[in-house]
Amino acid sequence: RVIIHIDIDCFYAQVETILNPSLCGKPLGIKQKNIVVTCNYEARALGVEKLMSIKTALEKCPSLVLANGEDLKKYRDMSEKIYQILQSFSPFVEKLGLDENFIDISHKINKSPEIKPEVSGHIFEEKNSDETCACGCTDRLKEGSIIAQEMRNQLKSELGITSCAGIACNKLLAKLVGATHKPNQQTTLFSASSLNLMKSLKHPRNIPGIGSAMNRKLEVLGIDTIEKLQATDLFKLIEALGVKTANQIQQLSFGIDDSHVKITDRPKSIGAEDGFPTIKSETEVRKKLKCLLDRVWELVEKDGRRPSQVKLTVRKLHATNHSVRETRQTAIDLTTGVPSNAPLGPLSENQEKKVITTLMNLFEKVVNCDESWQVTLLGISF
Ligand SMILES: [Mg+2]
Ligand SMILES: [Zn+2]
Repeated sequence: RVIIHIDIDCFYAQVETILNPSLCGKPLGIKQKNIVVTCNYEARALGVEKLMSIKTALEKCPSLVLANGEDLKKYRDMSEKIYQILQSFSPFVEKLGLDENFIDISHKINKSPEIKPEVSGHIFEEKNSDETCACGCTDRLKEGSIIAQEMRNQLKSELGITSCAGIACNKLLAKLVGATHKPNQQTTLFSASSLNLMKSLKHPRNIPGIGSAMNRKLEVLGIDTIEKLQATDLFKLIEALGVKTANQIQQLSFGIDDSHVKITDRPKSIGAEDGFPTIKSETEVRKKLKCLLDRVWELVEKDGRRPSQVKLTVRKLHATNHSVRETRQTAIDLTTGVPSNAPLGPLSENQEKKVITTLMNLFEKVVNCDESWQVTLLGISF
């Protein structure tokens, strides 16, 4: 396999600088509550570190500019754009948080290229890289490095975003090798150097997939280096961790990772809901639904898919003061008069009327309007 791991350089700081170019070149920290959650390289050079308190950060670096990073929407939007660009190279893209992605490009590698590819970017342990592996992976990885370079160029030219890439034969190694040259660089790992890359991590906690709980269990067993983890008798590990985990983490310590790149799905449905004290009349319900529809439709437009059904969620408050949540859904066609393939765009007056009428019909199936009733939440999703 040829797997690329792309990691955006100080993601939050880059997004802020793109939204506000006057920040360019200044030391910039992103604050959430009273902590600097991340910062750009200019700030790092002046002594600011991730997760520093704002007070300490300003003492170290009085010229630090702070941007408020509490609203994640701007980061999610950029993350989605990055994902879309990467997906134009391969359908097999797995998101890891907002700023990392794995891409499996095995199927794009030319099996018998006419010209032998040259590596783009760094090679891990360049001095030992003359050997060509008999299975052909050396040339495949070289070609992978060229594709990784194209991905990064496109992220830069279309979004103005710089990133790092790691190119290797599995997810674990791609992620690890990409971190060896930062920022705005890429590194390829040939199979002969995998063990050396793993050893260079020194401590098992530096292996992605070994969290702090697992790390404590390993320390109890006296395992505090990668070499010790590799050398520990598997049966001893199984006794402490169970068969599955023991096998898995010992394999990881040798750089073996069979896990697939799992395509990150877009959410199946798009919706929103709103809770409130109580609503007792259909007029109020209608008004609430209109507000909700405005919000939800904004998301639908952005998503670009055409909804084919609509779902209503209602939470009813019973006389005994306990509440029950019910949902009803039905098919809906909003494409009348819209050319096929064209995005739906903003909701027209007619479309809005159609959706609200449909939702009110669903509402009457949930609530018997001849009797008195109270609802405390409404939700719409497409
Ligand atoms: Mg990053
Ligand atoms: Zn090979």
